[in-house]
Amino acid sequence: MTRVLQKYHVPWKKMYNEEEVSFQCPYCFQTISMVFESMYGGQSYIEDCEVCCQPIEVSYRIHEGETILEKVERAQ
Ligand SMILES: [Zn+2]
Repeated sequence: MTRVLQKYHVPWKKMYNEEEVSFQCPYCFQTISMVFESMYGGQSYIEDCEVCCQPIEVSYRIHEGETILEKVERAQ
């Protein structure tokens, strides 16, 4: 039966679960944004600031479909 699948049809954006999140860089204090994938749950990784190119350690978790930042710190 395909009835259930049709009922819970999800739009493209939700299917891929990418969300753009803005936060403040711990080095230069500019507001920067990154795209997080929420399809695998929370993650932690190091990403360079797009303004000052310093490495930022970012970790986030997914709660009820929303991306919640847990940590934004200098990676050194
Ligand atoms: Zn920066």
